[in-house]
Amino acid sequence: MFNLILFGPPGAGKGTQSERLIAQYQLAHISTGDLLRAERKAGTELGEQANEYIAKGELVPDAVVIGMVRNYIVDHREASGFIFDGFPRTVAQAEALDSMLHEFDARIDAVLGLEVEEDELVKRLLLRGQSSGRADDQDEATIRNRFQEYMNKTLPLQSFYSEQNKYHGVEGMGEIESIFDSLCQQIDRVRS
Ligand code: ADP
Repeated sequence: MFNLILFGPPGAGKGTQSERLIAQYQLAHISTGDLLRAERKAGTELGEQANEYIAKGELVPDAVVIGMVRNYIVDHREASGFIFDGFPRTVAQAEALDSMLHEFDARIDAVLGLEVEEDELVKRLLLRGQSSGRADDQDEATIRNRFQEYMNKTLPLQSFYSEQNKYHGVEGMGEIESIFDSLCQQIDRVRS
């Protein structure tokens, strides 16, 4: 099994690059943002509850997302590995992920962090908001709040994984294709 975390702030390009990476490496994709939006679309109670946090730009409680990821992994046990996109976002989530993978005799092999300047991120998110219809991408105050949550709760994971020698920063500004090439180079280096 090869398990990869695509790390970075909102708007860094995790979803865009995940799509390409799953095609290239035949990995299963877990985007907690997508899973939460699917729950909401299906009108489940979990989806309704999560949406209250999402609309404010706050993180959804750890127990909710951890449970969701666990179900997904159990349902995709045959996968040759996973790309985690938007998860983990807190140290508690990272620790839960480690113990989940341990049950399957697996581990996180690499964490690739897409590095993008904040002004560029806001531009990308507002642009995405125009076409995706995502309410949390249309309001600058909500976007700023998501960055605040990222700084306070998610960024500490960079040291968490650096201490394990798993974190690799990748330039996330520029052409989608050249960013993809840099990600592939890192992955191939880790896998060889
Ligand atoms: P982005 O990375 O652009 O913010 P996502 O689709 O990954 O978009 O997430 C949208 C929202 O869903 C987040 O702002 C947060 O409220 C919620 N969310 C997604 N993943 C998690 C997670 N792992 N932990 C807590 N909340 C999450």
